[in-house]
Amino acid sequence: MFMTPDRPISALFAANRPLRSLEFYPPKDDVGVEALRQTATALKSIPWDFVSVTYGAGGSTRERTAQVSAIFKNEFGFTVMPHLTCVGHSRDELNALADRIHAGGFRNIMTLRGDPPKGSITFEVAADGLRYANELVTLLKARHPDFCLGVGGYPEKHPEAVSLETDLDALKRKVDAGADFITTQLFFDNAVYHRFVDRCSAHGINVPIVPGIMPVLSTKQILRIATLSGSVLPAPLSRRLEVAGDHADVVEIIGIDWALTQIRDLLGHGAPGYHLYILNRAKSALALAAGLAA
Ligand SMILES: Cc1cc2nc3c(=O)[nH]c(=O)nc-3n(C[C@H](O)[C@H](O)[C@H](O)COP(=O)(O)OP(=O)(O)OC[C@H]3O[C@@H](n4cnc5c(N)ncnc54)[C@H](O)[C@@H]3O)c2cc1C
Repeated sequence: MFMTPDRPISALFAANRPLRSLEFYPPKDDVGVEALRQTATALKSIPWDFVSVTYGAGGSTRERTAQVSAIFKNEFGFTVMPHLTCVGHSRDELNALADRIHAGGFRNIMTLRGDPPKGSITFEVAADGLRYANELVTLLKARHPDFCLGVGGYPEKHPEAVSLETDLDALKRKVDAGADFITTQLFFDNAVYHRFVDRCSAHGINVPIVPGIMPVLSTKQILRIATLSGSVLPAPLSRRLEVAGDHADVVEIIGIDWALTQIRDLLGHGAPGYHLYILNRAKSALALAAGLAA
C-alpha cells in the first residue's frame, strides 16, 4: 500500500515559528493500545506539529512502536517520529528497520544509542552493531538521505559522560554526521537550557535545540525520573511538591503551572518550540496548550 510520506520536521523549523510536539511510549498490550487511541482522540483538537514514539530496550514493545506509529499516522494524521536505538541490533537489522520505517511513509527518526535493557547497567554493542548514536545517524542518512533525524542532547550532561565538554563533542559528532535537530533531555530549570544553548553555539552546534519538558504528574515518579536522567529539581519546585504531599490533584496543578512558566520563558527567549514528555496522558498537554494560547 502506498503511504503518503510525512513532512520532514526540518522543513517545519524552516517556517520559523515555535513547534509543539508530544512524546509517547508504546503500551505493553492491546488494552494499552486502545487507551492510547483514546488519548490521541482527546489530543487531536490541538494541531501538534509532530508526535514521537519511543523505542524499548528489547522485546515485544519494539513491535508496538511500529504499530502505534502507524496508528498515529494513518488513523490520526499526525506527523510521526518513531525513535530507533542501537541496542541489540546488528547493522543489517538497523538497515532493514530503516527500510521498513521509510516504506511506512515516515521521514523523521529520533536517532539514539539507547538505554541498556532492564537488568544491565552498561550499554553493550550488539554483534556487528553500533556503539554510539552518531554511527546510527551515519547509517540512516546513507540508507535514506531523505530522512530527517533528531538526536538527544543533555543540558545537565549525559550521566555516563565524563564532562559536559566531552558530551558536547559527542553531540557535535551527531550533528556533523547529519542530525537535523536536537531534542533535550527533560530539565526543570531554564537557566540550564539557556547555558546549554550558549555552549552548543560556542561548540559550533548550530541546529535547532528543542527543549524537552515533563510536567510533573506525581512526586514519587518525578523523583525517580529526575534521578535516572540526571536532572536536578530546583528547590522552589521541590518545596511546592513537598507542601502538596499526597494530594495528587494539587501535585498536577503545580506540575502544569511550573511547566507553563518554563515554556513561556523558553519561547520568550527564542526556543524553537517545546517537546512534551506526557507519559501517554492527555490532560497536562491539553492544559499547557490552552494555557499558552495567545
Ligand atoms: C529526546 C530523547 C529521547 C529518548 N528516547 C529514547 C528511546 O526511545 N529509547 C531508549 O532506549 N532511550 C531513549 N532515550 C535515552 C537515551 O537512549 C539514553 O540517554 C542513552 O544512554 C544515550 O543515548 P544517546 O543517543 O544520547 O547516545 P550517544 O550520543 O551515543 O551518547 C552516549 C554516551 O556516550 C558518549 N559518547 C558518544 N559518542 C562518543 C564517542 N565517540 N566517544 C566517547 N564517548 C562518546 C556520550 O557523551 C554519552 O555519555 C532518549 C533520550 C532523549 C534525550
